[in-house]
Amino acid sequence: MSGIDQTQINANVDHAEIDKFSALAHKWWDKDSEFKPLHDINPLRLFFINRHASLKNKTVLDVGCGGGILTEAMAHYGTKQTMGIDMAEKSLKIAKLHALETQTNNVNYRLISVEDLAAEMPAAFDVLTCMEMLEHVPDPATVIRACAKLVKPGGWVFLSTLNRNIKSYLQAIVAAEHLLRLVPKGTHDHKRFITPAELARMCRTAGLITADSKGLTYNPITRQYRFTDRLDVNYMLACRVGC
Ligand code: SAH
Repeated sequence: MSGIDQTQINANVDHAEIDKFSALAHKWWDKDSEFKPLHDINPLRLFFINRHASLKNKTVLDVGCGGGILTEAMAHYGTKQTMGIDMAEKSLKIAKLHALETQTNNVNYRLISVEDLAAEMPAAFDVLTCMEMLEHVPDPATVIRACAKLVKPGGWVFLSTLNRNIKSYLQAIVAAEHLLRLVPKGTHDHKRFITPAELARMCRTAGLITADSKGLTYNPITRQYRFTDRLDVNYMLACRVGC
C-alpha cells in the first residue's frame, strides 16, 4: 500500500474524540452513566437492524463499537460471528471483559481503523453497523466508503448519527449536555452533525442504496425513546450494498 493512502487513513481519526471515550471506558456497562442514552436506544436499534437483516447466523461487523453495547446484543441474536472494532483500546478491553463475563463466545474485538480493515477483509460481512460514530470522525464519507467495501454484495449497512439543525442543537447539545446532563458537556460538536441529505449523498457515492430510515425521539418526561418518521435529531438508515 502506498504511503499516501496510509497518511490519509491515519488522518481520519480525531484523537481528542478517542481520548474522551477512553476516559469514560470503565462506565460503558453502567446503565445509569453517561452511556445511559446508548443503553436506552439499544432495543430500538436492534429491532430495526434485525427486522431488515435478520441477524441469526450472519457475519456481523460493528464499527466504532465502544464497550460493545450493540455488538454483544447483536451476538445474542445468534449471529455466526460478530466483530467489534474501535480506535479506543480501553473501550475494547471493557468490551472483551464483558463478553467473557456473559460468556458470549461469538464475539471478538479488534483495535483497527475501518479503512484498514476494509483493505484486509473486503466483502467479508453480511451486516455492518456504524452507530453514533460518524459525527466523531473528521471525514465520515471515507468511513462510509470503507463500510460499503467490507460488506458482501446485497448485504446490509446500518448507519446512525445526528441531524444538523436548530432542533438538534437544542436537544442534543443544550438539553442533553447542559440541562438534563444525559451526556458530558463537549460530547458532541454540532458542526459535525450530518443532515440526512448529506448522509444519503455519501451513501450513494459509496454504492449503498438506502432502503429505510427512522428517527428516534426522546421524551424527557417519560425518559423514553421511541421511533418517529421525522429525521430531525437522532436518525438511522438501513442501506444495501449494490450488487
Ligand atoms: N457504536 C457504539 C458507540 C458509540 S460512541 C454505540 O452506539 O453503542 C462513539 C464510538 O466511536 C466510541 O467508542 C469512539 O471511540 C468511536 N470512534 C470515534 N472515532 C473513531 C474512529 N475514527 N474509528 C473507530 N472508532 C471511533
